Amino acid sequence: MNGAVATEATRRRAQPGANGKTSGQREEPAQWGRAWEVDWFSLSAVIGLLCFAPFIVFYFVMACDQYQCSISQPVVELYRGEATLLTIWARAPSFTWTAAKIYAIWVAFQLFLYMCVPDVMHKFIPGFVGGVQDGARTPAGLINKYEINGLQCWLITHVLWIANAHYLHWFSPTIIFDNWIPLMWCANILGYAVSTFAFLKAYLFPTNSEDCKFTGNVFYNYMMGIEFNPRIGKWFDFKLFFNGRPGIIAWTLINLSYMAKQQELYGHVTNSMILVNVLQAIYVLDFFWNEAWYLKTIDICHDHFGWYLGWGDCVWLPYLYTLQGLYLVYHPVQLSDAHALAVLLLGLVGYYAFRSTNHQKDLFRRTDGNCSIWGGKPAYIECSYRSADGGLHRSKLMTSGFWGVARHFNYTGDLMGCLAYCAACGFGHLLPYFYLVYMTILLVHRCVRDEHRCGSKYGKDWKRYTDAVPYRLIPGVF
Ligand code: NDP
Repeated sequence: MNGAVATEATRRRAQPGANGKTSGQREEPAQWGRAWEVDWFSLSAVIGLLCFAPFIVFYFVMACDQYQCSISQPVVELYRGEATLLTIWARAPSFTWTAAKIYAIWVAFQLFLYMCVPDVMHKFIPGFVGGVQDGARTPAGLINKYEINGLQCWLITHVLWIANAHYLHWFSPTIIFDNWIPLMWCANILGYAVSTFAFLKAYLFPTNSEDCKFTGNVFYNYMMGIEFNPRIGKWFDFKLFFNGRPGIIAWTLINLSYMAKQQELYGHVTNSMILVNVLQAIYVLDFFWNEAWYLKTIDICHDHFGWYLGWGDCVWLPYLYTLQGLYLVYHPVQLSDAHALAVLLLGLVGYYAFRSTNHQKDLFRRTDGNCSIWGGKPAYIECSYRSADGGLHRSKLMTSGFWGVARHFNYTGDLMGCLAYCAACGFGHLLPYFYLVYMTILLVHRCVRDEHRCGSKYGKDWKRYTDAVPYRLIPGVF
């Protein structure tokens, strides 16, 4: 045990006595994970997001539906008095029972696959990690078990989709595009229902009360979540299901529906649409191939389950991550060969940086540093931390490979991929570039959040790491 580090990882907190005065100080384990106290800035951001995020999604989708994807035109019309907020709202398609039926069947089908079809792929695909897997240690010191069957669910869903499009003809492959805004209302209903349920569940019947966090602020609790890994029964895990299934499996289906719509409207599919479909499908397939690895990412390891993940997975992800394909239905851009090649290269290089960085950390952590990174034994900083149960645990922070280039080079690769998706849409409109702006904000914020958490988790050792690797995303810049 590294005594100096253990002391560092232990934060001193003043304990109020019965008379309200500080009675002294006692050692407590460092409190890592999301915030325990909410400052005014965070609270304003939370309230702002709760109030405006659904309208941001509506605005982008409505701008495509009503204004050919121009994001300035609605504002211009409002300014000139040619439209009001109410007329814009009234023009957009509303909730329909057809969309409700489609959505209910979709979610029920994903639920069935998730709960009732255990993974068999890991038995015959070499190198694929599926079936029952352990998650990371929670702040309370628990290790949850997960059934990893996302790749199988993705394949079954897509095989059925393609079989329907070519042979079965139960529904049109443009069904998603054709019901896009009515489906958005259904996704909102599910997103709010699941977030509210998770919020109430944390008070009434939490899965593990020691992993709950209450800040005393109801808005923050609702948005950022109280329970760490809410579950129903032994296997229904809210985070794994909502992020992966209505969220990420839908992503590639939505893109396929856009492609089918282009074919229907123009009689051909543009190379830009193919590029967006292929690059985003690589990203989605990568996620499912590495679903066991996903158990070790911030979403599962550190974020609590609230509106941010619940509503975000149901609405924000499927609607805003797919803006490029939606744009290309309205603007069927055919790229020059040079432009298409540049986009493809950027996307593939970004994917390589993203995957290799993630893979290096995974390999390093799995082998406890006994591996080869860029042809040599990795260098690292030894560190330790305490969980809330007081247990002392050891860990290592690698300073070799991409983790020695920058502290979050995986985010840099991710952003290169985002730029490629956007650039596939040409330079005619701003709307498809929203994704890049959003991902930059998300990942920079995530970087800062993660570093704050790692700082309080590892104390002085984290400082040693940031001294050894001074940049976050781009060496010499940030
Ligand atoms: P990381 O995979 O980068 O994980 C960060 C954690 O890794 C830290 O909290 C720390 O955890 C550990 N760590 C940090 N530095 C080191 C090091 N030098 N050596 C070993 N371990 C280290 O973060 P995310 O979970 O955010 O991201 C995973 C991937 O998902 C990224 O590639 C990201 O781009 C992608 N992503 C995509 C999103 C999207 O919407 N498309 C959204 C969010 C992420 P510990 O406490 O274990 O030490």
